[in-house]
Amino acid sequence: MFIDPLVLKGFFTPGLRVLASGIVSMLMISVSVVGIIALSRKIAAREIIATYVSQRLCASCGYGLHDAVIEPDACTICPECGAAWRLGERPTSEG
Ligand SMILES: [Zn+2]
Repeated sequence: MFIDPLVLKGFFTPGLRVLASGIVSMLMISVSVVGIIALSRKIAAREIIATYVSQRLCASCGYGLHDAVIEPDACTICPECGAAWRLGERPTSEG
């Protein structure tokens, strides 16, 4: 059930109420679309970061972290830009 947010019936003429209700609806739709776009960007950014990190590349600058030192807190600090990533264990050459 839609509740008309403009209950000031004595203040607005019927035409203005329809116009104001339409504007309110458009604003609500706009806010929803902006929220969906922001969420989509966040999901895409996480996928890009996961792809870079899985290839042992810095997701901030793209520098190769294959030989970088794994710190005691399990993070690898990029020597190029200083970003820290949890790359996991270094893959062994034995396969
Ligand atoms: Zn970097």
